[in-house]
Amino acid sequence: MPLHKTTQSIAAVSRILMRSRMAEIVVMAPAAVLAGHWFGAEGLVIVAVAVLPVALLGQGRDQLRAKAPGGHHLDDVTGLPPRQSIIAALGQAFDLGRISGRKSACLIVSLDETQRLLNDFGQSAHDHVLQKTGERIAGLLRETDLLARLEGDRFALALTPTLRMDLESAIQISVRLKKATAEPIRIDALTYYPSTSVGFCLASRSPLQSGASMLSAAELALEDARRNGPGAIRAYSPEIQHAAHLRDSLRERVGDALDSGEIIAYFQPQLSTDTGEVTGFEALARWNHPERGVLAPAEFMPTIMSNGLSERLSEVMLVNALAALRHWDRTDQRVATVAVNFSREELSNPSLVAKLKWELDRFDIAPNRLAVEILESVVADARNDMVVQNIGALAQMGCMIDLDDFGTGHASIANIRRFAVDRIKIDKTFVAKVDSDPSQQKIVSAVLSMAERLGIATVAEGVESIGEHAILSQLGCSFVQGFAIAHPMPIGDTQAWLHRHRAKLQSTPRMNRRTG
Ligand code: C2E
Ligand code: CA
Ligand code: CA
Repeated sequence: MPLHKTTQSIAAVSRILMRSRMAEIVVMAPAAVLAGHWFGAEGLVIVAVAVLPVALLGQGRDQLRAKAPGGHHLDDVTGLPPRQSIIAALGQAFDLGRISGRKSACLIVSLDETQRLLNDFGQSAHDHVLQKTGERIAGLLRETDLLARLEGDRFALALTPTLRMDLESAIQISVRLKKATAEPIRIDALTYYPSTSVGFCLASRSPLQSGASMLSAAELALEDARRNGPGAIRAYSPEIQHAAHLRDSLRERVGDALDSGEIIAYFQPQLSTDTGEVTGFEALARWNHPERGVLAPAEFMPTIMSNGLSERLSEVMLVNALAALRHWDRTDQRVATVAVNFSREELSNPSLVAKLKWELDRFDIAPNRLAVEILESVVADARNDMVVQNIGALAQMGCMIDLDDFGTGHASIANIRRFAVDRIKIDKTFVAKVDSDPSQQKIVSAVLSMAERLGIATVAEGVESIGEHAILSQLGCSFVQGFAIAHPMPIGDTQAWLHRHRAKLQSTPRMNRRTG
C-alpha cells in the first residue's frame, strides 16, 4: 500500500475512534495509530505494519475497555490508563524523535487541596471532581495526545511530538489546562471551585532520554509548583533537580540534626507598645547546618512533619525556650514570657500536657510564662478531640494561649472563647503597609476592636518599619514583633541586644499610644 494511503486510512480509523468517549479513545486508539501521528511517516510504517492489524482485528471491544494499549488496566474512576502508558509513549517519542526530530513534552496536572474536598464533600464528590477534571483536560487535547491518571489526584499528558515544542508553547498549554480545570463544579446544591497546579518537562530538558526519566522530571516540576501554589506552573530545570537532591539529603539528616543540637531555637523579641519594654520572645526553629549555614523552617519543617518528627522538634524547642527563660532570669534580664509554636500534630499528642508539666517543673518555671502559639486554622478546625482536650488542659494549667496568623484561618468568636485565647497574633499580611494603606488599616482596626471587646490582648507580627510600629501603637495594639524591632537571634545574642534596646529606650522619647 502506498505510504500516503496508509496514512489516510490510519488517520480515518483514528478519527472515528476519537469521536467516542474520552476513556474509549485512549483504549481504542492503539499504539500504532498514535505513533503514526506522532512520528510521521517513518514511525507510522514501522509501527503500523507490526501492530495495527492485531490491534484492530484481534481484540474485542469489551476486552479493549478493560485495558489500555500495552495491556495496562484502566483507572476505575476516570477510565484513563495508568502511568506505564505515559512512560511507554514518552519512550517511543524519544526513539522515533531521533529519526523525525519531533519533540514531545510531559505535563502533569494536579488538583490542589483535594484532602479538603474529601473531608468537606466526601468520596463520591471527590471522584466526581476527578472525572470532571479528566474530561476537561481531555477536551483540550489534540486527538493524538495521550492522557493518563497517576496516583493521587494527578493526570499526566504526553503531548504529540512536534518540531516546535518549546518552553513558550508548553507554558501556553499549561495556562489553558489550568483555566479549563478551574471552572466551578456543582456538587449537589453546592459549588466547588477547583484549582490545579501544573509541572512539565520538555523532551529537550529531560535528564535522560527515557520515558521514566521525563515523567519523574515533570513530577519534580509539579512538586515545585505545589510548593509555590496553589495554582502555580513550573517547568523542569536542573536547578529543580538540585533543590530536590538537597531536600533528600536534609531528609536523611534531619533526625540526627534534632538529636545533635544542630536544630535549635532562635528568639525574636516582642515589645509592649505601652512601655516599649521587651515582654517576651518567640522561639523560632533554625537548623545550624554545617555546610549550608542557618536554615529557616520553610526548608526543613515539611521534612520534619513527613518524617513524623514533630514531637521531637517540639521537645527541642520547649527545652530551648525554658532554658532561655532560666538564663534570662539568672542574668536578671527581666523577660516575662517565651512563646513556642505547636503544630497540629503535636497538639494531637495525648502525652503533650504531661510532658509540658514535667518540663516546667524541671526548669522551675511558672506555666503563665509559657505562651503556646496555635495556628488560627488549627483552632478553627478543631474537630479532633485530642486537640480540643489538649488546648483546654494547657489553658487550665495556666499557659498563655496565643492565636497565631490571625486573619488567615476563619476561627469563630465561639472558638476564641472556647479555647480561652489570651492573645491574638495579627498575621503579617495585614500588618504590611498598615501605615500607608487605608484598607489594611481598616482590617487591623476591626481586629483590634473585636479583641478589645472580647478582652483579649493583641500582637502585631511582621512589623517591618517604624511607621507600622507607630500606627499600631496608636491604634491600640498591645504588642509588636518584627524585623523593625529585631530579627530572630541565637540565645547568645539576646543579652547584648536587650542591653542595647534598654539603652535606646532611655535615650529616646516613647511612642505614644492612642489616647481616649
Ligand atoms: P510564625 O510562627 O508566624 O513565625 C513568624 C515568622 O515571621 C518567622 O519566620 C519570623 O522569622 C518571620 N518574621 C518575623 N518578623 C518578620 C518581619 O518583620 N517580616 C517578615 N516578612 N517576616 C518576619 P520563620 O522563623 O521562618 O518561621 C516560619 C514559620 O515556621 C513560623 O511562622 C511557624 O509557623 C513555623 N515555625 C517556626 N518554628 C517552629 C517550631 O518550633 N514549631 C513549629 N510547629 N512551627 C515553627
Ligand atoms: Ca508563631
Ligand atoms: Ca505568625
